[in-house]
Amino acid sequence: MTNADVLIIGGGLSGTLLAMQLLRLPGARHIVVFEPRAELGRGEAYSATELGHTLNANAARMSVDPDAPDDLTHWLAAHIAAGGWPEAAAQAVPVAELFPPRALFGRYAQRRLDEALAAAPRSSVEHVRAEVVDLFTHQGGACVEVEGGKRWFAPRAVLATGVFAASRTRRAGAGLATAFAGLDPWDVNAMAQVPANGRVLIVGAGLTMIDALVSLQQAGHRGPIQVFSRHGLLPQPRRQPPPWPDFLAQTLHASPRQLSAELRRQCRLAQAQGVDWQAPLDTVRAHVGRLWSHASEFQRRQFVRHLRPWWESHHHRSPPLGAALLAHLQAAGRLHIEAAALLEATGLPEGVQLLIRRRGEQQPVVVQGCAVINSSGIEYDWRRVDKPLPRQLLARGLVRPGPLALGIDAHASGAVVDAQGSVSQVLFALGPPLRGLWWESTAVTDVAAQAQALARLFS
Ligand SMILES: Cc1cc2nc3c(=O)[nH]c(=O)nc-3n(C[C@H](O)[C@H](O)[C@H](O)COP(=O)(O)OP(=O)(O)OC[C@H]3O[C@@H](n4cnc5c(N)ncnc54)[C@H](O)[C@@H]3O)c2cc1C
Repeated sequence: MTNADVLIIGGGLSGTLLAMQLLRLPGARHIVVFEPRAELGRGEAYSATELGHTLNANAARMSVDPDAPDDLTHWLAAHIAAGGWPEAAAQAVPVAELFPPRALFGRYAQRRLDEALAAAPRSSVEHVRAEVVDLFTHQGGACVEVEGGKRWFAPRAVLATGVFAASRTRRAGAGLATAFAGLDPWDVNAMAQVPANGRVLIVGAGLTMIDALVSLQQAGHRGPIQVFSRHGLLPQPRRQPPPWPDFLAQTLHASPRQLSAELRRQCRLAQAQGVDWQAPLDTVRAHVGRLWSHASEFQRRQFVRHLRPWWESHHHRSPPLGAALLAHLQAAGRLHIEAAALLEATGLPEGVQLLIRRRGEQQPVVVQGCAVINSSGIEYDWRRVDKPLPRQLLARGLVRPGPLALGIDAHASGAVVDAQGSVSQVLFALGPPLRGLWWESTAVTDVAAQAQALARLFS
């Protein structure tokens, strides 16, 4: 058994920012980060290789340092000046307004980790390239086991396991709807194998679908594209509106119905003054965690059932390049979106067949394409994630499902709550596993703030 001060399970953005924040604390510590990928700091989002797979907000809004909101803008300016990302010049906008490729953002996070490491010569970060398959608490600490059986022990362990793609999970006993993989939305090489003029079917209409359109374009696809999603809503294009008065600052409790009525009123007010409706919407973001954690379970369910699709399509907006491509494909008559539920997916000798039920219709219909891309998003319910660690943690009772079965239950500090309702002194979590606690717990700014707060708790 190897000893460490902190064990971080997952070396995506969350795990990397936590390591960076721990290195910035006074004192010396040995941090072990378990991450099967070759590089820390990338995870699913920032392993992207296409320049067209960009951040969904501009550099001014994507600092990894909550104390330095301009941090990414400064890094990017220096990087561009040194000859990195030469394509940025063609966009002719100030650096703060650029939407960097996600690959570049991953490099930025890595650089900030490297710098924190260089500034803390008595501390160390060890990257163990392995999947953690089990974890148990043991004499005031946590013991982590990787595939092959090797174990590490530390007083604290942190679950930074990130997002589990719905396309890679299988729902035991459920219909085929969630049990097919389709083409990887980010794999341009695989898409280059799709006949250039063939019909491509895409399931899910969020930001991953926008990435899939970029990938198809990059792969030379010129055929029709049919997108299916339950509500038929597309991500709105992101603009950068001016700040709007904080109309929720005094609101402690409000039902989803009251909130949406007030938000619509504010949007109308903005438009009447010639201000973009996105301005009032963006003021809501700062209050989401507070409003969600004060809401009753009934109100949360109401929100998820009735408002979630609108929140997702209006708040999680498309970066300009992706939005322009979507508009172009629609205008050219190549892209059609339909509100429909997927019932079944069947492979054909030369393509795929989907059984769908269009919204408002009783009879399912069959649609065929030469390929399908599953961009139906993220699986937040750990009981449905077919991976050893979530399974073991649930089986041992070390974690329990979070509110509405979104991620895992935890105290506001990030300390995990076990099956008996006890707040752990040893096991913590940050980022997407805390979806049920905060609702929004995935974006760069969310995980950056959580990493800083958790590191301070450990100091
Ligand atoms: C495609 C995509 C695009 C995004 N774009 C944006 C954006 O533009 N702006 C924004 O604000 N946010 C964006 N996000 C949100 C993004 O997920 C977060 O910003 C951030 O990447 C979350 O980091 P994470 O480390 O928690 O999760 P992940 O990136 O999912 O990383 C988790 C890591 O944990 C590892 N892991 C999991 N289980 C184990 C285990 N048992 N043992 C060892 N390692 C394990 C995985 O290999 C993975 O690398 C995007 C997300 C995705 C998926």
